[in-house]
Amino acid sequence: MLPPEVLERAQQALVDLDGSGIGILEHSHRGPEFMAVLERTEAAVREVGGIGDEYAVLFVTAGATPHFAWIPQQFLAADQTADYCHTGVWSGKAIEEARRYGTVHIACSGAPDFTTTPTACTWSAAPRYVHYTSNETIYGTQWSAPPTAPAPLVCDASSDIFSRPLPLANHALIYAGAQKNLGPSGISLVIARKDFVETGRTDLPPLDQYRTYVAERSLHNTPNTFGIFVIGETCRWILAQGGVTAMATRNEAKAKVLYDFLDQSKAWKPHAAKGSRSLMNVTFRGATKELEATFLKRAEERGLSGLKGHRSVGGIRASIYNAFPASGVTTLVELLDEVERGSV
Ligand code: PMP
Repeated sequence: MLPPEVLERAQQALVDLDGSGIGILEHSHRGPEFMAVLERTEAAVREVGGIGDEYAVLFVTAGATPHFAWIPQQFLAADQTADYCHTGVWSGKAIEEARRYGTVHIACSGAPDFTTTPTACTWSAAPRYVHYTSNETIYGTQWSAPPTAPAPLVCDASSDIFSRPLPLANHALIYAGAQKNLGPSGISLVIARKDFVETGRTDLPPLDQYRTYVAERSLHNTPNTFGIFVIGETCRWILAQGGVTAMATRNEAKAKVLYDFLDQSKAWKPHAAKGSRSLMNVTFRGATKELEATFLKRAEERGLSGLKGHRSVGGIRASIYNAFPASGVTTLVELLDEVERGSV
């Protein structure tokens, strides 16, 4: 979900951006109206994330997946090693891509069940960087704090960006597809230390180098102007709610209601172990397939959608991103309880 207020502003901007009489899709990306959007979006991202000048804020016209390849392609030479934390499907995909470019050392692994984010990591002798996925969207596990690593951290924060304070310390690069907590699909936010970006390869096509985005302020070619507009409005909404600290408090309270219910239930069993549980994606299974099917059918009837677990793991997954209301969690828990008691 995105905040209804943001969707309304986006709707208005499609027709008339900031009273200019022309919609966001129609404005030139070099004109003063869009420049104002870009500036206020970057300012809002910086304010929400507490991001200083040593970091660049980049808007990249792509989902999160291309970054799995762009990062090792730029920063991992064939004779170097990067350490990867393997906590689920998305970090697994990042590992596969990195193997094309250099040596990948698996520092820790939650395989095969992926119920935890491992606490003990074994690092290689001199990793170029350490990659981790802060929230594994499919298994519903989340790092409660970043790993303590001997090298710059690179984080895929696609599914929990700005759901809690951004742990910038020790991070060289954080990337996130926008489509969970920020805006539309097909655009990603990258927060990158400028000095780290400078250490990347220089012989790649310009759009495969983060330095191009830094040098040209994400305007080397036409960016996803609408996506940038929505990210800006979402960040302004987060600030109006009290910022990421307030988001974290809300998200913890929402998730607690659901996990507390699951922990006492006889019919529903949470997937993630305590201490590794995601506040964004709550994954669980029913005692029987029939129970799950009944629940999914009733959920649709009550206006709760998207609860079927990812096709690779099955079960149920409740995605309760920033904009998902506490009342929605209450409705969900009531329905789970009713199905368990056989009263629907
Ligand atoms: N990383 C994570 C953590 C994700 O949740 C997703 C998408 N669900 C991706 C990467 C891939 O994103 P995209 O589809 O935008 O490439």
